[in-house]
Amino acid sequence: MVASLSYVHVTPDSPWGTYIAQVDRVIPYLGALGRWAETLKRPKRSLIVDIPIEMDDGSIRHFEGFRVQHSLTRGPGKGGVRYHPDVTLEEVMALSAWMSIKNAAVNLPYGGAKGGIRVDPRQLSLKELEKLTRRYTSEIGIIIGPHQDIPAPDVNTNSQIMAWMMDTYSMNVGATATGVVTGKPVHLGGSLGRVKATGRGVFVTGCEAAKRIGLAVPGARVAVQGLGNVGSAAAELFAQAGAHIVAVQDHTGTIARASGLDLSALLAHVRATGGVGGFKEAEALDPESFWDVACDILIPAALEGQLTPSRAQRIKARLVLEGANGPTLPSGDDVLKDRNILVVPDVICNAGGVTVSYFEWVQDFSSFFWTEDEINQRLDKIMVHALSHIWDTADRHRISLRTATFAVACERILSARADRGLYP
Ligand code: NAD
Repeated sequence: MVASLSYVHVTPDSPWGTYIAQVDRVIPYLGALGRWAETLKRPKRSLIVDIPIEMDDGSIRHFEGFRVQHSLTRGPGKGGVRYHPDVTLEEVMALSAWMSIKNAAVNLPYGGAKGGIRVDPRQLSLKELEKLTRRYTSEIGIIIGPHQDIPAPDVNTNSQIMAWMMDTYSMNVGATATGVVTGKPVHLGGSLGRVKATGRGVFVTGCEAAKRIGLAVPGARVAVQGLGNVGSAAAELFAQAGAHIVAVQDHTGTIARASGLDLSALLAHVRATGGVGGFKEAEALDPESFWDVACDILIPAALEGQLTPSRAQRIKARLVLEGANGPTLPSGDDVLKDRNILVVPDVICNAGGVTVSYFEWVQDFSSFFWTEDEINQRLDKIMVHALSHIWDTADRHRISLRTATFAVACERILSARADRGLYP
């Protein structure tokens, strides 16, 4: 059932509508904690800000910015900041709620939050991007902080933007506060391994899932949507493990090569041109054909709402690894289930990034930094352990990995809620 909140327009297929449907599926497994379930269907706090900046040509432009703290029950808010022309409050609400679920699923001591600015950053100069970031940070400064809510990178944001956010917050409070954001440059309190952590988590959970369904990763054919931070790191690790990257789609084009793409050459092309479009050593496909490509593993690592029922009906993969947040509609999920295609859901599959963000935050407090090997080993251990617990829950209740992840996470969030009680 779509929860009715007067301040957003929600449809069954919109991000918040998708999230609500996912919560509704888990309520039967929550027992007595179900009485608290409504708290999951309402973001605790949503901040909308106006971001005026002076452009390089002297004109003034205004942008819409958001920061939503879905839940602070288990700890400070934690979640990325997205710069995209389609960002809405409704989308940021859903992304923040998925962060609550994800953080609880891997048992990090965080609630869930997310932010975004409705902007196409490619249309801005570097100077304009810096002004936008600094003004946004100042505006949301009233609710973020190392103990309140800790932003991080998401679509179209990166370590440079985190450095500006950290600097702006620090200037406003009068002290360097490295722990206010994660995903910073390593020389500014960032963590080794953070850049590739989300892709690494996709790979680690993907290998565990492949093992369980008897799919050999060496020789497996992998199709990836989105070759940004998440998709490129996951693709590299799968290629290193002997898989063939047979198709890639991004905002500039769709390319395929049945014998496997030369990933290093492709990544160099993306760095040089900004996307996969125009890559010579591959066949160019029309965008919709991406979903028909013969493959064993499909990694949606771009945006939400991609796996519609009709696309879910056509895909050839045995295993879907959700690098992106919310890439599968609930109606698409049903089709994948009927077709016996295993989905490792976003709320566990892409939790590697926030896990290393947690490591970064812990390191910032102690000003003592770990080696990349230590980071990767701890990350792998947490991901494998969390997935195994979720898998046991799925087997016990005969439910999908998504519903099992929600069951584990909602149980943790609502137990904490019940113990804390309502104030007053
Ligand atoms: P990014 O900006 O680095 O890359 C996004 C990619 O998606 C790019 O390759 C872009 O070309 C592609 N893309 C954009 N629009 C597209 C379209 N319409 N069709 C096909 N491709 C399109 O972003 P990212 O950080 O890699 O994030 C990707 C997804 O992973 C998002 O859903 C994000 O929320 C999720 N995620 C990111 C992190 C992280 O640590 N960065 C962590 C967890 C989840």
